Amino acid sequence: MNDAHALAGDPYVAAFPENRPFWEAAEQGRLLLPHCASCGQFHWHPRPRCPYCRSDAVRWKQAGGEGVLHTYTVIRRPGACYVLAYVQVTEGPLLMTNIVDADPEHLHIGMVLRCGFRATAEGRHAPVFRPA
Ligand SMILES: [Zn+2]
Repeated sequence: MNDAHALAGDPYVAAFPENRPFWEAAEQGRLLLPHCASCGQFHWHPRPRCPYCRSDAVRWKQAGGEGVLHTYTVIRRPGACYVLAYVQVTEGPLLMTNIVDADPEHLHIGMVLRCGFRATAEGRHAPVFRPA
């Protein structure tokens, strides 16, 4: 399958093999987040120990894919305009991401967003958010 080859050749995925389940799920349109089995909290970014209780019982768990716009900035360059944002997902963590399929003039803090995925230049699929 082409997607598997794309991941295999992606230097970012190769450099952080512990995050490979995240990228494999992303190719299937599923958002995984690190979840601590000891204290029950999700966190972001991925790390071997829970930042809340220091347990190493951290496993990938599927998130619902919804969140709210926490903060954002509109980046305008000749020929390009995109929105860089922090989205707080329903499970709690803040994710740095892009907002897509939205007029930047109509964005507002607290608006409900839905996760989707967009192919990067390297071939993996990165989570992005769009208005729900
Ligand atoms: Zn914990």
